[in-house]
Amino acid sequence: MSETPDRKTGNMPAADAEATKRPMFDRVALIGLGLIGSSLAHVMRRERLAGHIAGATRSEATLKRAEELGLCDSYHLDAAEAVRDADLVFLNVPVGAMGKVAEHIAPALKPGAILTDVGSVKGAVIRDVAPHVPQGVHFIPGHPIAGTEQSGPDAGFPELFENRWCILVPLENTDERALARLTRFWQATGSNVETMTAEHHDLVLGITSHLPHLIAYNIVLTAADLEEVTESEVIKYSAGGFRDFTRLAASDPVMWRDVFLNNREAVLELLGRFMEDLHVLQRAIRWGDGEKLYELFKRSRRIRREIIEAGQDTPAPGFGRR
Ligand code: NAP
Repeated sequence: MSETPDRKTGNMPAADAEATKRPMFDRVALIGLGLIGSSLAHVMRRERLAGHIAGATRSEATLKRAEELGLCDSYHLDAAEAVRDADLVFLNVPVGAMGKVAEHIAPALKPGAILTDVGSVKGAVIRDVAPHVPQGVHFIPGHPIAGTEQSGPDAGFPELFENRWCILVPLENTDERALARLTRFWQATGSNVETMTAEHHDLVLGITSHLPHLIAYNIVLTAADLEEVTESEVIKYSAGGFRDFTRLAASDPVMWRDVFLNNREAVLELLGRFMEDLHVLQRAIRWGDGEKLYELFKRSRRIRREIIEAGQDTPAPGFGRR
C-alpha cells in the first residue's frame, strides 16, 4: 500500500487518508463509565473522534472493569486528573452528583475546553454545575435521548446514539464555535441534534420519559402488592402487557431517584394532568361509555404509528420479540 499522496490531486490513497485522519478532539475525558460513558467510548473509537480517551470513575471496581474492556486510553480514580489537558469533557454521572464532580474538576479544566453533560434533567444540572465553570471554559449542557434499562460499563455499545436525538441547551453567551464543534461530535455518533431551553427540555422529557418511568415503577409495585394475585401469577401471565412496563421499571434506581428529585416541578405538574385524564377513563368505565373509550384508544394508537414512522421504534410485532 502506497503512503505517498497522489501526484495530481495531492490526496492520500483512501485507506491511508482514513488512517491519518485527525481525530475531532485531541483528548476527551469521560467522567463516569456506565451505560452512557461506555457507549461514548465505543463510538469514539469506531469513529476516531478522540486522539486520547481518558476515563474516570468513582469506584475502583468500575475502573478495573472499564480497563478490562479496553474502553479508554488512560484510567483515573481522580476525575481532575482525567480532565487535565482535555479539549472535551463529558459528565456521565447521575444528575444529583453533577455539581460535586464539577466543583472537583473545575480547577483542572483547560481554558478553551468544552464541558458538557448527558444528564436527563437540564435545569438542575445547570443550577449545580454552572457556578463552578471557570472563565474561558465553554459549558454546553446536553442530553442524548437514547438509553436502555441496563447500567454499568458492560452495558455500552457503539450504536446506542444512532438515529436518536441529542438535545443541546446553549446558555446565554454560549460560544457559537464551541456549540458547532459539539454538534458535529454528536452528529458523528449518528445522532440528530436539536437545541432548546432547559425549561422546555425538562417539560418535554417529563412527559416522554420521566412520567412513563414513574407510571411503570408504580404499576409494577401495585402488582407486587396485590394480595389476591400471587407474584408467580404476575410473572407467569406478564405477556398480557405487564412485562412491557417492567422494562422501564428495571431502570437504574439511583439515576431515577435523582431524575425525580431534580425535575420536581415539571413532573408534579404532568402528574396532575395525568391523574385528571385517568379520572376521565375511570368515569367512562364506570358509566359504560364505550364510545368514549373507543375514541380515546383510537387516538393513542395513532401516536404509536407516528413513532414508528419517525424511526424511533421497530414496526415488528411485540417490539421485535420472537
Ligand atoms: P450508570 O450506568 O449507572 O453509570 C453511572 C456512572 O456514574 C458510573 O461510572 C458511576 O461510577 C458514576 N457515579 C455514580 N454515582 C456517582 C457519584 N455520586 N459521584 C461520581 N460518580 C458517580 O448510569 P448511566 O445510565 O450511564 O447514566 C449516566 C447519566 O446519563 C445520568 O445523568 C443519566 O440521567 C443520563 N442518561 C441516562 C440514560 C439511560 O437510559 N440510562 C439516557 C440518557 C441520559 P461507579 O460505578 O464507580 O460508582
